[in-house]
Amino acid sequence: MADTLIPVNLDDSPATNENVHNRWHPDIPIAVWVDPGDEFRIETYDWTGGQIANDDDAADVRDVELEQVHYLSGPIGVRGAQPGDLLVVDLLDIGAKNDSLWGFNGFFSRQNGGGFLTDYFPEAQKSIWDFHGMFTTSRHVPGVRYAGLIHPGLIGCLPDRAMLETWNAREKALFETNPQRVPPLAALPTAQAAHMGRLTGDAGTAAAAEAARTVPPREHGGNCDIKDLSRGSKVYFPVYVDGAGLSAGDLHFSQGDGEITFCGAIEMAGWLHLKVGLIRDGVAKYGIRNPVFRPSPITPAYDDYLIFEGISVDEHGKQHYLDVHVAYRQACLNAIEYLKKFGYSGAQAYAILGTAPVQGHISGVVDIPNACATLWIPNEIFDWDLMPAADGPVRHLDGSIDVPLAPDR
Ligand code: ZN
Repeated sequence: MADTLIPVNLDDSPATNENVHNRWHPDIPIAVWVDPGDEFRIETYDWTGGQIANDDDAADVRDVELEQVHYLSGPIGVRGAQPGDLLVVDLLDIGAKNDSLWGFNGFFSRQNGGGFLTDYFPEAQKSIWDFHGMFTTSRHVPGVRYAGLIHPGLIGCLPDRAMLETWNAREKALFETNPQRVPPLAALPTAQAAHMGRLTGDAGTAAAAEAARTVPPREHGGNCDIKDLSRGSKVYFPVYVDGAGLSAGDLHFSQGDGEITFCGAIEMAGWLHLKVGLIRDGVAKYGIRNPVFRPSPITPAYDDYLIFEGISVDEHGKQHYLDVHVAYRQACLNAIEYLKKFGYSGAQAYAILGTAPVQGHISGVVDIPNACATLWIPNEIFDWDLMPAADGPVRHLDGSIDVPLAPDR
């Protein structure tokens, strides 16, 4: 078996682990070095570093300290990697830690960043998902079971100084267009709860004050939350610093396209089995600006979908111009209303859209004035048939209909 180069102990605070960090900055020292061609394992905390418990109380989701996230394992240095190279990363396998065979899905309260549908679900809530080998079920969301499409929500290489400054300048400019907004338009650098790996003391504090937060996806990849970047994928990352400095974390057992609940997918602690390689000057050779990847040859074989359409006319009847964000929200709201007819609460339906292997597609963006987005729900994940029928939706969830999804009050 490949050596575990970065172990994590879930009983210890991630802040005490010098092979973990929660910011992007070129001065974060390489934690471990490998050679091109090496195979190895790393372990990761869940993205919050253990702030969320396996229980029925969402107070921890409500009170989560978001300045701590995301805890990433790395940076891994690859000998010989130079700026302009492509770092080739094979995600040979990914799994949950044996002492932590569960994950969580949460909705943040609006004050804490909310989610895609925060106007409808403004309170913190959570559901716990248990892992049964490759499958998952939840005591909070009955009647549904599916295979995991396990992936790192967050993976990428360290930025160089020029890229860091570009990120900070453009995100600050956006933030300042409406600095009072809740949730904010961007998560700007803050030294609060920053963990800079092996960069400690005054240098660490100074770097933390300008280090990029891990919240958005950027040119290096980062927090892309792409469910299809799963175990078995091969990813090509732009390299900006000597040694590349690859870090990963925020593992998801499963996620629907869009990660619409924001906290997010089925979040878990786990491990990655990786192999790395280099393509010299690959960034220029292939015209790469953002990462590219080949997906896994093994994915859950769901092919019987009920597909919900949404257009860029919002829920108040307002016409928007080719707005895919509005259109996808309508597709999601339409699906939630449909699932409620089978006995789910709105929160349970929302949790299914955030966690199950549902697909989201941009179906049309040229037919003025309406964009069309579609949300694909696999029929096979339910204990019954999801399709419309002449005798109407039979309420399948007697007894559980009124069970709320671990509310915070
Ligand atoms: Zn996540």
